[in-house]
Amino acid sequence: MIVLNNRIQTFLETFFTTETEHIQSLLFYGEEGIGKKTVALSFAQALLCEQFPSQWGGCGKCDNCLRFAKGLQPDFLFLEPQEGKIAIENIRQALEFLSYEPQFSKFKILIIDQADTLREEAQNALLKTLEEPPARTLIILISSFPQRLLSTILSRVLLVRFPRLPSEKITEFLVTQEKIPVAQAQKIAELAQGKISRALALSQTGTFKKVAETEKQLELILGSNFLQRSKYLTQLTKEKDSLKKILKIWLEKINSDLKDPSTKISPELGKALLKAFDLISNSNINSTLLLENIFFSYD
Ligand SMILES: [Zn+2]
Repeated sequence: MIVLNNRIQTFLETFFTTETEHIQSLLFYGEEGIGKKTVALSFAQALLCEQFPSQWGGCGKCDNCLRFAKGLQPDFLFLEPQEGKIAIENIRQALEFLSYEPQFSKFKILIIDQADTLREEAQNALLKTLEEPPARTLIILISSFPQRLLSTILSRVLLVRFPRLPSEKITEFLVTQEKIPVAQAQKIAELAQGKISRALALSQTGTFKKVAETEKQLELILGSNFLQRSKYLTQLTKEKDSLKKILKIWLEKINSDLKDPSTKISPELGKALLKAFDLISNSNINSTLLLENIFFSYD
């Protein structure tokens, strides 16, 4: 399953049905972490699959799909920066790769991730091929900073902008693919703010659990009496760095809770905690006392 904006999905799927010799070179662009590379790889796999025209990610069973999975598909080349750059030599090799007929598939595909790291010379070397790619080849450039690409590159590719994903899409993906319970998936989707990579990181690394626990602590503190609260706060404020992380999570929670008109959380608490965050970050203030005061006045 691929999580994708509907408009882009429909557009890219036209390639699964048209019997076209010449495909225009594409630039997938948009913020970091919204799935450009995953989509490009799944798209490439679909085009290279023996079952083409088939489905996103290919059939997963044919020889071409198996070769792809092992990184041994001779009709596919993936370039990404090594130590921050893609050498011009790699671009020359890539152009040579494209000049031969596909061996096992209908297409030859070159993907260049973080294409904005290409030096001007390397970008110039690509121009002619981008404009007139050999028959049955596809070049996909990927960039989170398209403004760093030469305007001559931008004018030769079809621009495909990846927006942030609606949280329902992310929720659906987490539920069906990652087998995460709906309520938790919704929470993760909300925290992920339209970024699928963040959603996956939150769901896979246990980060989400920590966030959920930290949010729970805020509820406990708000619901406890003075003595219990003082105990909690003494615990939480032992270490400045972890306290800052906790406050950040609380602030995010408060901001999102405030969107719900039935919330019992007051906007003043958010303001006070934000101020506390700054004070704790920039001074040696006694954080236990500071937080005790804040929670005392918002009882
Ligand atoms: Zn296949």
